[in-house]
Amino acid sequence: MKTIGLLGGMSWASTVSYYEAINRGVNAALGGLHSARVLLASVDFGPIEAAQHRGDWDATAKMLIEAARSVEAGGADFLLICTNTMHKVAPQIEAALSIPLLHIADATAEVLRADGVRCVGLLGTRFTMAQDFYSGRLRERFGLDVQVPAPEAQDLVHRVIYDELCHGVVSEASRAHYLEIIAELHERGAEAVILGGTEIALLVQAEHTTVPLYDTTAIHAAAAVKRALG
Ligand code: GLU
Repeated sequence: MKTIGLLGGMSWASTVSYYEAINRGVNAALGGLHSARVLLASVDFGPIEAAQHRGDWDATAKMLIEAARSVEAGGADFLLICTNTMHKVAPQIEAALSIPLLHIADATAEVLRADGVRCVGLLGTRFTMAQDFYSGRLRERFGLDVQVPAPEAQDLVHRVIYDELCHGVVSEASRAHYLEIIAELHERGAEAVILGGTEIALLVQAEHTTVPLYDTTAIHAAAAVKRALG
C-alpha cells in the first residue's frame, strides 16, 4: 500500500472528513484492522485565509509548499491538497515537489464524465466559483459546461463556508439557502452540482435534494484510496 500525503487544515473540519473517508475506503477494500498509511500536514488556516482575502496568492503558495515538502520528506508517495480553493496554487506546489499531485478537479471531472454528465453547477468559495483556475480546467480538459450561481448567491455560498462550515457549524437556514441555489442551477440546465468546497457535504447531502450532487471530498478521498491500493 502506498502512503497518502495530505495537505490539510483548510479547514480542519473538512480534513476530518478526508481522514475518515480514506480510512473507511482502505478498510472496505482490505478488511480486518487495515487502515490507510497517511502523512498529514495540517496547516494553520488563519494566515492562509487572510492572504487569500487580500489576494496574496504567492504568500499562500509559499506556506503550502513548505508544508507539502514536509509531507514529501516524510515519505508520502503522492499528495492531495484537501481544499478546492487552494488548487489555485496547485501548479506552484506541483513544481516544488517530486511526488505527484492528485488534483481534486481532475478526480471530480473523471467521475462526472463516467456518469455522462455534460452540464454541471459549481458551488464553492467565491475564488473557486468566480475565477478560472477550477472551472477553466473542467471546461478545457474535460469538455464540461460549468454553471455558477449569480453574484449575490455566490456571496452567500462563500460566507457560509468561511463563517459557518469551516468552524464546524451546520445551520438549517444556510441549508435552505444552498438548496434554493442548487435548484436554480438545475433550472438553468445543470444536470448535477459539484460540491466544490470540501466542507459543503457537511451541510447538504443527497437526501436533501433530487439534483445529483458530486462531493469533491468523497471523490478526492476515493481516488486517493484507489491510487494507494492500485
Ligand atoms: N475547503 C474549502 C474549499 O474546498 C474552502 C476553504 C479554503 O479556502 O481552502 O475550497
